[in-house]
Amino acid sequence: MSKTFATPPPGEQQAPHPSRGIIFCPRCGSPKTQTKNRAKKLGGAFGTCFGIANSFSGAAKGATVGAAISLRAVSPSTPMNSLTVAVLGAFVGGAMGCATGAALGQVIDETVLNNHLCLRCGHSFSTS
Ligand SMILES: [Zn+2]
Repeated sequence: MSKTFATPPPGEQQAPHPSRGIIFCPRCGSPKTQTKNRAKKLGGAFGTCFGIANSFSGAAKGATVGAAISLRAVSPSTPMNSLTVAVLGAFVGGAMGCATGAALGQVIDETVLNNHLCLRCGHSFSTS
């Protein structure tokens, strides 16, 4: 009878193994835990909105100058350029805002909230 190390006995305290990506529940020792990442999702959504709004206000300011330069330089007969620049700028700003918000949310998840949920006993806990 060789002892397997697949499931730790209930009640035993298990240290988290971040290198293996398995977090054990501190209450019941179950490896069946999941990450909630609530702040990460929320941060990503807020960041996207903020990034788009920020880009639009920035694009609106820069559009006049940018359009004047690009229209004269690239194609003088295309009035769509400034709008295209503004929309593209908003997309880029939104993507950057999303990444920033998600990164910020992940930090909040890991430090402030109980980001981990045990699927066995329903216990919420944080690893830090
Ligand atoms: Zn548990």
